[in-house]
Amino acid sequence: MRPSGKLEYGGQAAPLRTCVGCRVRTAKSELLHLVLVEGHVVPDLHGRLPGRGASLHPDLGCLELAERRRAFPRAFRVPGPLDVSRLRAHLEGEPHVM
Ligand SMILES: [Zn+2]
Repeated sequence: MRPSGKLEYGGQAAPLRTCVGCRVRTAKSELLHLVLVEGHVVPDLHGRLPGRGASLHPDLGCLELAERRRAFPRAFRVPGPLDVSRLRAHLEGEPHVM
């Protein structure tokens, strides 16, 4: 049995996630966790929102790649399209857009 999504580093398990934009596997702590709330893709800043999540580098380039590849509907298993305006605003650095 192998735990999925984990890599052993000298006995320490580092959880890995794949960025839905650039598809690079990165330590979970470096990625923004995203959740779907009423058709909006929003950053789950507290790790507490329920439901299926997706991971993205906190980077507008990765957001654009994800949009172009229609990665969000696939990640959340919904038909889409999804509204990423709140996520985009978050990445652009606007405070308190949620
Ligand atoms: Zn990325």
